Amino acid sequence: MKRINIAIDGPSGAGKSTLARAAAEKLGFRYLDTGAIYRTVGLFAREEGVDPSDREAVSGLLEKIRLRIEFDGQGVQHMYLMDRDVSREIRLNEISGYASRVSAIPEVRAFLLEQQRQFARTSDVVMDGRDIGTVVLPGADVKVFLTASPEERARRRYRELLERGQQADYDRVLAEVQARDEMDIHRAAAPLKQAEDAALLDTTGLSPEESLDRLLAIIKGGIGR
Ligand code: C5P
Repeated sequence: MKRINIAIDGPSGAGKSTLARAAAEKLGFRYLDTGAIYRTVGLFAREEGVDPSDREAVSGLLEKIRLRIEFDGQGVQHMYLMDRDVSREIRLNEISGYASRVSAIPEVRAFLLEQQRQFARTSDVVMDGRDIGTVVLPGADVKVFLTASPEERARRRYRELLERGQQADYDRVLAEVQARDEMDIHRAAAPLKQAEDAALLDTTGLSPEESLDRLLAIIKGGIGR
């Protein structure tokens, strides 16, 4: 049976994961957060004491990494690294930079590509990331490029960190958001960009409910439901 694939891309902090998860739930689809996979590779680099920008060293890690994606009874994605559930650890702020750096390495992207495609072949899925509509699933049924201004994204991220009890400084979070945008947009391997056939959804100034309504309208329009 042909599966329905929804690709959602955009910069960090645009609300992709929250919105993609909520949309998937409404549609009865699986939600796959591909950033979590890159974060797991980033965590492994840190644990192995490897410089995440060192192409050769990180490529070497791919031979020994054991990475698994599992879904619990609620459909929540868990990441396993060497058989350990690292779903919480990969959310630590310092892992974001590791993830961005390892994700710029072509060998890492190639290593993760088939796993992501296989997932889309076997499930109706809402997948979010940076290159889903452009590289991973160029034939996706619906593509959405979800964005918001850097300041708005930094504010959301800042609040999220405080809510999780982590230390945060707004100016620093904004600088990190901008640095990560720079890296994601300007890297040679699968840079962050809007696919030509993607709908643009800018959530600056929109409430989460409004954003979800618009996202669902785009998706339903695209799949004719
Ligand atoms: O989405 P999230 O912020 O968790 O992603 C972490 C990092 O992984 C991003 O900064 C980005 O560099 C990278 N990433 C990627 N391609 C994807 C998903 C994430 O390069 N499809």
